[in-house]
Amino acid sequence: MQDLERKILLNPGPGTTSQNTKEALVVNDICPREGEFGAIMNEIVDGLLAIGNGQDDYEACLFAASGTGAVEAILTSALDASKKVLIVTNGAYGIRMRQICESYQLPHETIHEFGDYPDVKAIRQRLQEGDFTHLAVIHHETSTGMMNPLEEFCELCDELDITLIVDAMSSYGAYPMDLKKLNIDYLAASSNKCIHGVAGLSFVIFNKEQIQSLKKSSGSFYFDLYKQWKYLKESNQLRFTPPVQVCYAFKQAIEETLKETTEKRWERYQRNWQILYDGLKELGFEFYLPDEQQSKILIAVKRTGILPKGFDHFHDALYERNITVYPGVIPETDTFRMAVIGDLFEEDLKYVIAEIRSYLKK
Ligand SMILES: *Cc1c(COP(=O)(O)O)cnc(C)c1O
Repeated sequence: MQDLERKILLNPGPGTTSQNTKEALVVNDICPREGEFGAIMNEIVDGLLAIGNGQDDYEACLFAASGTGAVEAILTSALDASKKVLIVTNGAYGIRMRQICESYQLPHETIHEFGDYPDVKAIRQRLQEGDFTHLAVIHHETSTGMMNPLEEFCELCDELDITLIVDAMSSYGAYPMDLKKLNIDYLAASSNKCIHGVAGLSFVIFNKEQIQSLKKSSGSFYFDLYKQWKYLKESNQLRFTPPVQVCYAFKQAIEETLKETTEKRWERYQRNWQILYDGLKELGFEFYLPDEQQSKILIAVKRTGILPKGFDHFHDALYERNITVYPGVIPETDTFRMAVIGDLFEEDLKYVIAEIRSYLKK
C-alpha cells in the first residue's frame, strides 16, 4: 500500500490508527453473510471480551453505528416504563444519556451539573431514597477530561443491588478493567476510541445475568440488544448490513490492543498525557480540571488570553503541521481539548509541544 502521511489526531476519536489497521481496510469484496466473514465477527466479539477479562461471565454484541448507538441500545433495551434510572450528568455525555431517555420517555432522574466531581455519598442517598433500578454513568467524561470513580460506582451498585450502566467509550481498551471483579452490568464503547480502530462500529458488553431481563421487547427496533445479540450468536451475522471493511480493521486493532495489553497502553497514555500537560503548563496554559480529577486521557485547556488570534487560527496553523486539536464544549468556559487516544508515542507529543511553542512565538 502507498505510504500515507502520518496525522496526529488529538481529537478524542477517531484517533490515529496504526499502519497495519489502515492496511486491513483493503480486502477482497465479500458478502457479510458468508461463513468466512462470520469467523471475523466471532473473533471481534471474543477479542472485545478478552480486553476486559469478560470471557466467562459476559456477552458482547455489535451495531453498525457510532458510539451513541451502543448507549442508545443499552438504555432502550435495559429500561422500560416499569424501571427508573439515575443518570450522573456531570458532562456532555451524561447529558446525552438524559437526552436519549427523554426521546424514548424512559423514567429517569439526574444528579450533578457540568464539571461537578461525582459525590458518591449523595448518589448513594438518592438511590436509597428513590425507587431506582439502574444507575447510568460515564467512566471518562470526554467533554471535560474527568475520570469518574468507576470502582466506587461498582461497589455502590453491588451493595444496593442496582443495575449499573457504564459508558466507557473513551476508556475501554486503554484503562485496565477487569469486568469480572468490577461486576459492571452493561458497558458501551466503540471501534474508534481507545481500541484504535476506524469509525463505524459500536458495541455493548453485558453480564450474562441480564439476558433473562433483556428478552422482553426493546423500545427500539434497530438497537434491540437481545435480538441483535441472539442473531449474532446463532448465525455469526449482524441482523443488518455491517460496515464490512471496518470490521477487518477493527479485528486488527483489537489484536494490537491485546498484544500491547491494556496495562501497557494505559502507561503509554499516561506518559503521553504528561508530556502534553507539562509542555502546555510551561507555555502558560491553564487547565479546566484540578490535577487529581484528570483522566490522563484528555485534557481540557483554558485559552483565555493566550491565543489572541482565536482558536480557529491556532487550529489551522497546527492542522498544516499534521496536528489536529479539538474545540471545547464546556459551557461558559473557553476551552479546547487534546486527547492522547490513538497510536501515538512520546515523540509525537514532543513534536506537538514544539509546534505549539513555535506558533506562540510568531
Ligand atoms: C465518543 C463518545 C461517545 C459517542 O460519540 P459518537 O460520536 O456517537 O461516537 C459517547 N460517550 C462518550 C463518553 C464518548 O467519549
